[in-house]
Amino acid sequence: MKKKINFRFIEIAVFSIIITTLVMTAVFYTQLKKQVFSDLQIVAEILIEEDSWDKKVDNIRVTVINSDGSVSFDSDVDADILPSHLNRPEVQSAIETGTGEGVRRSDTLAESVFYYAERMENGQVLRVGKEAHSVVSVLLAALPIIIGTALLLALICMILSHYLTKAIIRPIDRMAGDLDHIKESEIYPEMVPFARKIRAQHEEILSAANTRQEFTANVTHELKTPLAAISGYAELMEAGMANDSDIKRFSGEIRKSAARLLTLINDIIKLSQLDAGNASEVLEVVNIAEIASDSVEMLSLGASKNQISIKYEGVQDAGVRIGKELAQELTFNLIENAIRYNRAGGSVTVRVLREDGKILFSVEDTGIGIPEEHQKRIFERFYRVDKSRSKELGGTGLGLAIVKHICSLTDGELALESEAGKGTKISVIWDVEE
Ligand code: ADP
Repeated sequence: MKKKINFRFIEIAVFSIIITTLVMTAVFYTQLKKQVFSDLQIVAEILIEEDSWDKKVDNIRVTVINSDGSVSFDSDVDADILPSHLNRPEVQSAIETGTGEGVRRSDTLAESVFYYAERMENGQVLRVGKEAHSVVSVLLAALPIIIGTALLLALICMILSHYLTKAIIRPIDRMAGDLDHIKESEIYPEMVPFARKIRAQHEEILSAANTRQEFTANVTHELKTPLAAISGYAELMEAGMANDSDIKRFSGEIRKSAARLLTLINDIIKLSQLDAGNASEVLEVVNIAEIASDSVEMLSLGASKNQISIKYEGVQDAGVRIGKELAQELTFNLIENAIRYNRAGGSVTVRVLREDGKILFSVEDTGIGIPEEHQKRIFERFYRVDKSRSKELGGTGLGLAIVKHICSLTDGELALESEAGKGTKISVIWDVEE
């Protein structure tokens, strides 16, 4: 970047020098031309006034041309050998308008001949000519000065650009050095969004790392409990410290703990699969109404065992881009919770509705509800309102985390309404896919 800025500065300097030189030369040359013509005009007028031109004026060629173009007098050349001058622009213009000017190349490139012609009262044209510097020679004369100035300017530019670049880069360097602590007032306003973005990304990475660490610690802890129970009961039986009825009970406990381990491991696998979620993998469109009513059917036996009535309401056809597996996982988790955190005599209503190009899926229960202060956190991994109740009922604390994950993967809008002691309604809204 420094090199680039440096280079740009020098480029601009060189460009400006060239433009300035050209403009100055043009201005100077125009000025010179004006001066030469005005001098020639004065000489011509004096000559006409005095009515004598045969005496030689310094460096000035005097020619008198008849109105037919033939030359009647020339101060430098024998008039007889000169051809007709009728087609010379300055002569032509003088015949037509009274005066005329012309510039022509001289024999040498460095000089030009400037002519001024004026019509006299007798119809003859008096022309005076003078050699003066041409544009090329003006430019050539100025060249050493131009080159010298250019070199000097280039040097100044290099030095200036070195310091300027340093000054421009300094805040960026500082920002790169300590992005997290630098004040926004100390960096370029243009860089503020950039700095904010990087900061936000830093924070995201940090919090993701923290969450992962926390998750690992939680998983370890969750796995340890059933494993400790299994090995405890097995040890008792191995030591022959259990009678027949104990053995039956212990085996039951071991089976329960093993089942618990299995659900936990299954949930963890599901979550990590979702985490690795291949976003590019296109999910198929499935009929969420069908999957929801199937889930209701499958879970109705368990619900009736706990004296909870469960029903499905709503449309029969609702396409959502979610894929069968995720749809089953989501509906199952929500309905299971609605049954699990319910009371005898309570009810669960599962709905799928279509409204304004949206699909509304909801699971509503008349269960124990979620106290306000826990509502924000229940979608976190392993967060439970009542740990022992969840465990007792076979919960892992991962169900809602899985639900939330599925919603974000499928662009579903997740909402929770709940009141402690009255019940809970969790809903998801998707765009319709036909
Ligand atoms: P769990 O396996 O413990 O059910 P979840 O992630 O599914 O884990 O739910 C987290 C917690 O949110 C539960 O432990 C419970 O306290 C609360 N919860 C979830 N669904 C409901 C519900 N329908 N009614 C009341 N509480 C609920």
